[in-house]
Amino acid sequence: MRLFLGVDMGGTRIKAGLLTEDGELLEKKNIPTKAERGKETALSNLTSLIESFSSNRNITAIGLSIASPLDPWNGILYNPPNLPGFDVFDLKSYLKDRISIPFVIDNDANCYALGEWWKGAGRGARVLLCITLGTGIGGGLVVNGNIWHGAHGLGGEFGHITINIDGPSCNCGNRGCFEAMGSSKYLMECYKKLSGKEATPDKIYKLALEGNEAALESFRLLGRNIAVGLASLCNALDPDVAVIGGGLSNAGMLLLDCVKVHFEPLLLSGLRGKVKLRLAELKDYAGVYGAAYLAIKSLKGGEA
Ligand SMILES: [Zn+2]
Repeated sequence: MRLFLGVDMGGTRIKAGLLTEDGELLEKKNIPTKAERGKETALSNLTSLIESFSSNRNITAIGLSIASPLDPWNGILYNPPNLPGFDVFDLKSYLKDRISIPFVIDNDANCYALGEWWKGAGRGARVLLCITLGTGIGGGLVVNGNIWHGAHGLGGEFGHITINIDGPSCNCGNRGCFEAMGSSKYLMECYKKLSGKEATPDKIYKLALEGNEAALESFRLLGRNIAVGLASLCNALDPDVAVIGGGLSNAGMLLLDCVKVHFEPLLLSGLRGKVKLRLAELKDYAGVYGAAYLAIKSLKGGEA
């Protein structure tokens, strides 16, 4: 039986899972990245996590999901916002010197989408569109089992399509991006405006479940913006399944219902009733599954 390792490196935690070719998760581990201590610490945590799996078994290939804009072909990271000190970094060369197992690298949202396509809410979809909602918005498009990378490796960066050119400023320097209007920051700002109080997204969710009107209205406003972004993407890309994942998707049906109300009417008439809108299923380990699948596919010579 061939074994594959999927690794998902974020700014806070590094997750890894040992999987079979059929996608059975045999073992998983989860350690802090300690990114705030700098690049060397984060990298040595990454390599020791990999070694903890590879030292006593034969791993065929490794897939790495990294929270960074990157060049997936050359494994070069471009200024990951949550991995301080990395700047522009050649991760592929760094790992080649330290790991003897073949590996592939991709962006975390792409791996998340691929994981959901392989073993999650998007199983069997011809075209799967996935957004991950958290502090920011990540995105991935999977077409016939392949990640859509675009010409420069940045395909699927759905967080920066413009929802409202006069909207709030975004981290990227533009205004009214999907990320600035559909992420947890927007939810918290809405709640503060409506209630005069500060609260975390989890707290706002709990309040909404208790019937708190400011919390419910915050979710309605957020859901409407998400619907605008998602429907625009669906009109352009015509997926059969659209998956909502990331930390905010823990609000489950409350969030999904707030999106659904506005989503369908915004679709082109030919798409109404045809795009299946679903919550992610694999959640925290979607990226690990996607990265492992990438490793499996790389051996078969498919575009990774
Ligand atoms: Zn932006």
